[in-house]
Amino acid sequence: MLPQFFDSVLSLVVKTSTDLPPDVRAAMKVAMSEEPPSTQSGQALSIIAENIDLAADCEGAICQDTGMPTFEVKTPIGANQVEMKKQIRDAVAEATRRGKLRPNSVDSITGENSGTNLGPGTPIMHFEQWERDEIEVKLILKGGGCENMNAQYSVPVELPNLGRADRTLEGVRKCILHAVWNAQGKGCAPGAVGVCIGGDRTSGYVHAKEQLFRTLDDLNPDPRLAELEASIMGEVNKLGIGTMGFGGRVSLIGCKIGVQNRLPASFFVSVAYDCWAFRRLGVVLDAKTGGITRWLYRDPASPVLAMADQAGFQRTGREVVLQSPLSEEQVRSLNVGDVVLVSGPAYTGRDAVHAYLMKHDPPVDLRGAVLYHCGPVVAKEGDGWRVTAAGPTTSIREEPYQADVIKRYGVRAVIGKGGMGAKTLAALKESGAVYLNAIGGAAQFYARTITSVDGVSLMEFGTPEAMWHLTVKDFPAIVTMDSHGNSLHRDVEQGSARELAIIGA
Ligand code: SF4
Repeated sequence: MLPQFFDSVLSLVVKTSTDLPPDVRAAMKVAMSEEPPSTQSGQALSIIAENIDLAADCEGAICQDTGMPTFEVKTPIGANQVEMKKQIRDAVAEATRRGKLRPNSVDSITGENSGTNLGPGTPIMHFEQWERDEIEVKLILKGGGCENMNAQYSVPVELPNLGRADRTLEGVRKCILHAVWNAQGKGCAPGAVGVCIGGDRTSGYVHAKEQLFRTLDDLNPDPRLAELEASIMGEVNKLGIGTMGFGGRVSLIGCKIGVQNRLPASFFVSVAYDCWAFRRLGVVLDAKTGGITRWLYRDPASPVLAMADQAGFQRTGREVVLQSPLSEEQVRSLNVGDVVLVSGPAYTGRDAVHAYLMKHDPPVDLRGAVLYHCGPVVAKEGDGWRVTAAGPTTSIREEPYQADVIKRYGVRAVIGKGGMGAKTLAALKESGAVYLNAIGGAAQFYARTITSVDGVSLMEFGTPEAMWHLTVKDFPAIVTMDSHGNSLHRDVEQGSARELAIIGA
């Protein structure tokens, strides 16, 4: 028995979820210095910076999607791994109970949420023995939005805008560029990629994710890979994707590449895309007590670099104030690029709610409504509820449903992140509705715009998937798809495709 092991792992989970590591903060500071504050990317970064500070100050989740907890554990020979696994599970359940992790473990067939982050395959735990007399536990929390942007290429392969990627480092370079371009803002750019050259389909993805445990400022010991990493970082930001895909100078904050042997017949390039909310930390533990002897990636004695300047998110005075429910006239007056401040009732709805609305009437009147793609972290308080983290989720998952939901029920504004497709754009035009892009991952910032939780419907879908009835005040977002057929996402994607072709040539 290790009497302090549970507490140590719990501390690791809480710190990882709430306090971005110094190397990621430093990379985001560089991004902030690159993007002029008056641009959409600059404004988004100022919200992100404020959010990072808020999360650390209040020990709240940086992003409401606390992801798939993935532990990498190294133990001395002979250590009781069975007991450690049990205590890691207990610590994950306790962190979930305390609201530091969102319940994220869902039965893949029934859709039922376990409510504890425990279930078959969750959390992920990889154990390895080493010949040192101490225990190392590393943790990464990688959310669904960026996880969905992972990519695996079987080369040789023909890539749009880049041509053929061969079984060479030049081919690998093309695959990485394609993966970043393809992610656009859907994985909450600026992100970082972990890459594996080789392996099989399974080990390739595992090794790619392992690269994300490297610090963003380290130097690859293999000079060939170091050169490739530098080359990617030197040119990828020319794509112009920018923060949240709004267009801008910084699209990627890190590229870490590893290599595994492969079968002669296979050549996989696996890319693990992580978002700006790049949450990973580690601890070294005393092998006899399980107590923390030191932290990895952070030095508790060094002051944390504050992200926001004193002003934080600055209003320009040009923001459009929207009070819901919204009229068609109000919505049709909006154009791509407008910054809005939404106040009034808003309803959350993501995958389960959208699928439900295809077959059932909505539990509330959605005429003129604001529909927020969000799976919040919600704490029970007495007879009521309090939202503790509430950033937007990736909207493109609702593309098969959104047009019908807008047309059938009269929704006037959809808030989400990453943008939506042609079908939704057509519905916005036909019905007089608008898509508002909030800043992905800014869960603490947006939680503070929610003044009350007025009710909840469809709670049988679990906390993240239920329809929460919220009242918001001055919720900032950017119009990225309007009712005139314009889409910033389409424009940035097309512009970055042209740059991709130039870089890849
Ligand atoms: S920052 Fe974006 S991609 Fe990352 S976990 Fe949060 S919502 Fe998902």
